[in-house]
Amino acid sequence: MADFHLNRVEIDLTALRKNYLGLRNMVGSGVEVMAMVKADAYGHGLLPATRVLARAGARVFGVAELEEGIALRQAGLQGEIILLLGCPEEGYPEVVEHRLSPMVFDLEAVEKLSRAGERAGARVAVHLKVDVGMGRVGIMPGELPFFLERISRLPGIRLAGLSSHLPIAELPADQRTIVHCRSFVSIVQQLRAGKMPLAPGDCPPLIHFANSAALLYLPQTHFDMVRPGIALYGCHPGGQVPDSGAFQPVMSFKTRILQLKEVPAGFGISYGHTFVTGRTSRVALLPVGYDDGYSRRLSNRAVVLIGGRRVPLRGTICMNACVADVTDLPEVRVEDEVVLLGSQGSERISAEEIACWMDTIPYEVLCLIGSRNARSYTGDDQLDSVSVQQA
Ligand SMILES: *Cc1c(COP(=O)(O)O)cnc(C)c1O
Repeated sequence: MADFHLNRVEIDLTALRKNYLGLRNMVGSGVEVMAMVKADAYGHGLLPATRVLARAGARVFGVAELEEGIALRQAGLQGEIILLLGCPEEGYPEVVEHRLSPMVFDLEAVEKLSRAGERAGARVAVHLKVDVGMGRVGIMPGELPFFLERISRLPGIRLAGLSSHLPIAELPADQRTIVHCRSFVSIVQQLRAGKMPLAPGDCPPLIHFANSAALLYLPQTHFDMVRPGIALYGCHPGGQVPDSGAFQPVMSFKTRILQLKEVPAGFGISYGHTFVTGRTSRVALLPVGYDDGYSRRLSNRAVVLIGGRRVPLRGTICMNACVADVTDLPEVRVEDEVVLLGSQGSERISAEEIACWMDTIPYEVLCLIGSRNARSYTGDDQLDSVSVQQA
C-alpha cells in the first residue's frame, strides 16, 4: 500500500552495520559481541535491525522476552538468542523448541526448565545472572556456589553463561563501579581457578558483564562477551563522552509543514496559551505530537530543523500537533521537510539533545519515537530487508 504517513522515522542500516563493526573492532576478535535488540531494537525494528547485524557477523542476540525470541527464530535467525528476563513457565516448551537461552535467577524455575528439556531430550542453554550491585534481577553473589552446584546436577540444563550488569558504568571511576567490578572479577577468578562447582565435561560458561558504557570506559570488563545496546544505535551511554564521532546515529524523525500563517503580537499559541507571541509571527503547524512519541515534556523547549536552520517550538505540544516559529525564515513553504531528530544541511539534533530537553535519557527517546511511527529503511542493506519491515 502507498505510504501516506505525514511523519516518518528513517533507519540508516549502513550506520547500524558500521556501529556494530566499530564496536567489534574495539573489543577485538577474542571477545564475542551480543547485539542487544530488545525493545524492538531500541525502536529501530527488531527484524530489520537483527537481519543487518546478523549479516555483519553478529551471532548472539539479546531480547527481553520469549515473544521476541520466537519472532527472530520464525524469521529464520540462526545463532544464540538470550532472553534477558527469562521466561514464564508456560513458555518452556517454546524455549526448548526454538533453542532459546533464558537468563535464570530462580532455582525452582531452572529445575522446571530442566524437566522441560529432558522431556524433549535436550539440554536447555541458560545464562545465570548474578547481582553484584545492580539492585535488580539476579542472584546474590553469596548464593552462587549453591546455585552452580544444583544446576550442575540438572540433566536438562547446560550452563552456557554467567553474567552480571553494571548500574553506573558511565562513571567508571566511581567507587561503587569499582566495587561492582571487583565483586564480579572475584567470582570469575574463583570460577576459572576451579573453585566453583560446574558440571564435569561441560565447556566453562561464557562470562559477560559489559553494557555500552562498560565496553567504552572499562576494557577490563569485556571478559568473553560484551552486550552493547545504545552504542549500536549511535548514542553515547551518558556520563563521560569520549570522541563524539565514534558512532553514527541510526534513527531520524521527520515530518512536513502542514500549514503556515501569520499571527499578531500578543497571540496565544496552543492549549493553555503557555506561549504568547512577542511580535508579529509566522508560525508553522507540524503534524507531530505525543501520540507520535514526541513527548509533551518537550513543550516550549524543543528545537526542530527547517530550511537547514534551528527553529524553536512554541506552546504546548498536543496529541498530534505542535507549532514552530518560522518568523525568521520567510522562504519556507507548506510541505517543506522538518527534522525533529537527525540532520538537515549542516545542522543536527541528536537523541541526547532531545533527552536533555525531556529530562530523560536517549534510550527513552529512541524507544518512544521509533515505536510510534512508520519506519522506512535506508542504507546499503535496505533491499534485502524490505520483506521484513514491520507495521
Ligand atoms: C539493555 C541491556 C544492556 C545494554 O545496555 P546499553 O546501555 O544499551 O548498552 C546490557 N545488558 C543488559 C542485561 C541489558 O538489559
